[in-house]
This record gives sequence, structure tokens and C-alpha cells, in this order.
Amino acid sequence: MPELRIPFARPFLAGKELHFISQAVHDGHLSGDGAFTRRCNRWLEETLGARRALLTHSCTGALEMAALLAGLGPGDEVIMPSFTFVSTANAFVLRGARPVFVDIRPDTLNLDERLLEAALGPRTRAVAVVHYGGVGCEMDAICAFARVHGLRVIEDAAHAFLARYRGRALGTVGDLGCLSFHETKNVISGEGGALLVQDEALAARAEILWEKGTNRRAFFRGEVDKYTWIEVGSSFLPGELTAAFLQAQFEQAGRITERRRALCAMYRERLAPLEEQGLATLPRQPGGCETSGHVFFLLTRAPEERAALIAHLRERGILALSHYVPLHSSPAGRRLGRAAGELPVTDRVSETVLRLPLYFEMTDAELGEVCDEVLGWYARRRAAS
Ligand SMILES: *Cc1c(COP(=O)(O)O)cnc(C)c1O
Repeated sequence: MPELRIPFARPFLAGKELHFISQAVHDGHLSGDGAFTRRCNRWLEETLGARRALLTHSCTGALEMAALLAGLGPGDEVIMPSFTFVSTANAFVLRGARPVFVDIRPDTLNLDERLLEAALGPRTRAVAVVHYGGVGCEMDAICAFARVHGLRVIEDAAHAFLARYRGRALGTVGDLGCLSFHETKNVISGEGGALLVQDEALAARAEILWEKGTNRRAFFRGEVDKYTWIEVGSSFLPGELTAAFLQAQFEQAGRITERRRALCAMYRERLAPLEEQGLATLPRQPGGCETSGHVFFLLTRAPEERAALIAHLRERGILALSHYVPLHSSPAGRRLGRAAGELPVTDRVSETVLRLPLYFEMTDAELGEVCDEVLGWYARRRAAS
């Protein structure tokens, strides 16, 4: 295998990470909920317009908190896309609830809101949406549907940090939003995430779940004279070293997002001929959506084409990747969930979607090289046929 010259993603320092970490060490507070965690929480609340934000050790942890807060139990059902990461489903399954998998829209690869009605059952309690690549789901329709049927809306916004839907930050449109700062995401802290809460009553409970089910936070604020076990919880908070790293990334988050959006725009412009010639489909951005620029993908015409293009790029030292093996047909998905009918778009997309390299420090020249290789491969393939 030739040496990898252009990775798929690459962790990076935005500026003051090591400085803030040494500050945390000097301050002598390394466990959770210290000065950096509070700064990060406040930054998220102010920047995103969230009523309450709580850093978590991962988006997976934030989703588990959301499942607890939504009060889901055995036999309850949660409608979600099958085309997603396993954590979206696991969080609810851990509470004994059952994922009901619906198909995605062929344009955005987001949950198809027109299929909600057919997936609804007497035990449906929530809808969990995923904003694929950082492009918003049809939240107006989804939230209206949820209101009519008394369902919670939980946003897996792992891809969608700083993305917007009709002017609102994704992750703050539903009842509960979950962010990821895993090193493969846009803004990073190695492992990391956050829960965003809109409802005041849920916000108070979130604080308790976060701190092992205790009112330790109220104790720190001097509201009670000792803290005690209030309800089921766990340890969802990150340590201060993680929060210190993240604070440095937050300070550059606007610049990081702008760069990723610019890289996506360059990909789109350079690869537009493929779409014009009917060789591949590029991502869609519906009106009212401002993307986070998390993923740039191509939909190839056939699975064999994707495999051959990935192999060609790898030969040239470029890593391109497929995405999501559908959950509805996975061993655990079959056992623990159910599919709402056929999912033809999910089945097709999971076999034809190809993600191109995209990272903050990617140069214009690197992006140009990837495009040259992709366009060259299609041109040679055409000439040969
Ligand atoms: C990355 C990701 C997660 C999990 O995030 P972690 O922070 O690694 O737990 C969940 N859902 C989606 C859609 C993701 O892309």
C-alpha cells in the first residue's frame, strides 16, 4: 500500500490548547466541572442560544443523558434513521427502548420526514434525528409532527456544530441536542461532547444526571448544605484537561467552520462537471440551512464504482471512505429494533456514498490533488468504455 499522503481527517491544534491545559494543572483542579468546563458551558449557551449546555465525555454520553431525560423505558419506541452511527440507537436500547428505523431522503441523506406517520405506533415516545454532514433535517415538519403526537425531539447534532436551520443553531431546535468533539469532528477535544437542553425543568434534571444522579451542583452553589442521591444518573462530565483543550478550540471555532465550508465549496465547484455529466451526485443544501461543512460526499452510480474509486485514490495515497453500515439490517439492529417498511434509499446510499478527505488544515493544493484524481479517474473510465 503506498504511503498515505492525504488522510481522511487530521486532528489539529487551534492555538492555546497546551497553554490552557497547563493553566488547569497549575490551578490544581483536574476533575470535572471546574473553571474551564463552566467557561465552555457558558460559551455554548451564548453562542448557540441554548438554555443549558453541559459538556459530556462524548456525544454518546450526551445521547444517553437524552434517553434518560426523555424518560424512556422498556417497550417504548424511538423513530430514527437507520443511516447513522450506532450511538444514536444504543443510547435508547440501554433504557430498554426499541429503535424504529425509517428511510432517509435521497437529497440530504437525512431522516425522511414524510415517513414519520407510517412509523408511528402506540408506544412511540420520541424522534431522534441526525443532521447528516451538518445539513439540517426538515425540523419544522418534524417538530410539528412531534407536537401533534406528544413526542420528544432529540437531535444527534454530532456533525452539526455551528450549523444553522432557519437561523437557529442545530442542537437547539428540538428538546435535547447532542454534540460531539471527537477528534474526527469539526471542533475537537480527543473524546468529548455536550448536551444542549431547551426546557427549564429538563435542564434542572440534566444537571443531576450529569453528576452521578446527585445535587452536587446545587451544593457547590450553596443552595443545599450537603449533596445526596436524587435520581438515576452516571458520570457524564469530562475532566478539566479536556475542557481546557476544548476552550482553545472554541476560541477559533468560527475560523475552523469557515475553512471547512470553503473547502466544501471548492469541492463542489471542482466536481460539478461530474454531476452535469450524470456520473455522480453531489450534496444538496436546502434553503434555510447553513452547513457546518462536516462531510463532503459523492454518490456514485454503483457500488462497484465506489469500490474502484476508493481503491484508485488509495493507490495515490489519498484516503476516501464509505459511511454507515445500515443499522436496520445489522445483527443488533435486527434483534433490538424494527424497520418501518423497506428502506431502499438507505440500502442504496450505504453502498454508493463516498466521503472525500476534509480537515481544517487541508491546503487548497491538497484539495486540488484529490479533485484531479477523482476527475481523472472518471475521464479514463469514460474513455475506456
Ligand atoms: C461521531 C458521532 C457520534 C458519537 O460521537 P462520540 O463523541 O464519539 O461519542 C454519534 N452520532 C453521530 C451521527 C456521529 O457522527
